[in-house]
Amino acid sequence: MEIPLTIKETQEGLIKKKFSAVQLVDAYLARIEKFDKDINSFLTLSEEMAYLQAKEVDKKIEELGEAAFDKNPLLGVVVAHKDLFLTKGLRTTAASKVLENFVPVYSATVVKRLEDAGAITLGKTNCDAWAHGASGENSDFGSTKNPWQKEYVPGGSSSGSAAAISAQFSLIATGTDTGGSIRQPANFCGIVGFKPTYGVVPRYGVIAMASSLDSVGHFGMTVDDVEKVFEVTKGEDERDSTVKNIRSNKSNSKIKIGIPKEYFIKGLDSEVEKSVKEAADIFKSQGIELVNISLPHTKYAISVYYIVQPAEVSSNLGRYDGIRYGKNRDSFGDEAKRRIMLGTYVLSAGYYDAYYLKAQKVRSKIIEDFEDAFNKVDAIIAPVSPTPAFKLGEKAEDPLQMYLADVLTAAANVAGIPGLAIPSGFSSKGLPLGFQLMGARFSEPTLFKLGKLYQRTVGWKPKIAFQ
Ligand code: GLN
Repeated sequence: MEIPLTIKETQEGLIKKKFSAVQLVDAYLARIEKFDKDINSFLTLSEEMAYLQAKEVDKKIEELGEAAFDKNPLLGVVVAHKDLFLTKGLRTTAASKVLENFVPVYSATVVKRLEDAGAITLGKTNCDAWAHGASGENSDFGSTKNPWQKEYVPGGSSSGSAAAISAQFSLIATGTDTGGSIRQPANFCGIVGFKPTYGVVPRYGVIAMASSLDSVGHFGMTVDDVEKVFEVTKGEDERDSTVKNIRSNKSNSKIKIGIPKEYFIKGLDSEVEKSVKEAADIFKSQGIELVNISLPHTKYAISVYYIVQPAEVSSNLGRYDGIRYGKNRDSFGDEAKRRIMLGTYVLSAGYYDAYYLKAQKVRSKIIEDFEDAFNKVDAIIAPVSPTPAFKLGEKAEDPLQMYLADVLTAAANVAGIPGLAIPSGFSSKGLPLGFQLMGARFSEPTLFKLGKLYQRTVGWKPKIAFQ
């Protein structure tokens, strides 16, 4: 059978009995079996659970017909979870040897919400260990390859989730974005990736990286699909006190999109630049006003991020002491150790004021920049990454170069604002290109509206990396 490419096609196929949910699971697993040896996007498959859930889906459709979808908006939708999401009874490793044999006794809120909405869990995806990285190469279980060209990285840290969608191993996937880990791999793999406003999707049950920066988000082939998933995962959770319900945001007036000059930096690949400008012109053609803006503190975002983030990483990883669960600390890889060292250094007596406190002050400046900008415009368009996907091994030995891959994504995390990465085409080398839209906190509805407008205007059709 031909696997459908969107939630709508999947659910229409199920209603019209073109295929059953069990057949759908068969088809995805067959593709994974055939191709994932090369790509390495899954760490654990949950075949048994997937078939149980699929049978349940088929039963519901049999009993209730179309009405089954009203109660379960994601009925029959196959999902893969980044291996940072706790899944009850299913191994969860954070792609680290420390948790190689860890089987959680409960599921993350997001996992549970997706299952309650009728989604079918296919397995757990590879990532940089503890989500530390921008290429997938920091996984303790081997790198994931970019399905478009296997000598290139898929981006990171949610490497397996992004690769799995573009290779059609799953319809949707979850990820976390602490400094770009959803938007950048989505961009490198030619799919849609969404990082919500900080605190809109519950983090309960998701292994923490840097708690003031982490957001939980989603991958899919279209903006419409990612929005549908977000509708299910967002909102208050009694187990996560930082979660806020989305406030509906203003303006029916003419939408304005800002083009921030600081994001068109030296070293920006010319094809990336061209594709972002072309996307901006598409919006203009639809009557949206483009406004040149400035976010003057952008250049400090990466420095702030690489102080605040390791500080929080060092404190969050303190709990993996090899006593209650997991292996002992010798099992941590080099990158985690590097971040623990950096983090403890910037927090230590004598250095705290010079680094951590100073970074928090600059963080306020970056937040103010965005607040000023969003008084003038409804959204900001920018590149996601300075270049398209880079080659495996190209930056792996040079942590600083790898950290600089986050230079255009980290500011959104520092400010807690949402970002939507959208594919726009391919480079001359055949690697995916795209752009991101950022908005004020809680402006998700505007970002989705704009993203859908773009995809509608260009007649976007989901593309799979290989057949
Ligand atoms: N590349 C960034 C880092 O290494 C982002 C990681 C993330 O968002 N989880 O920290």
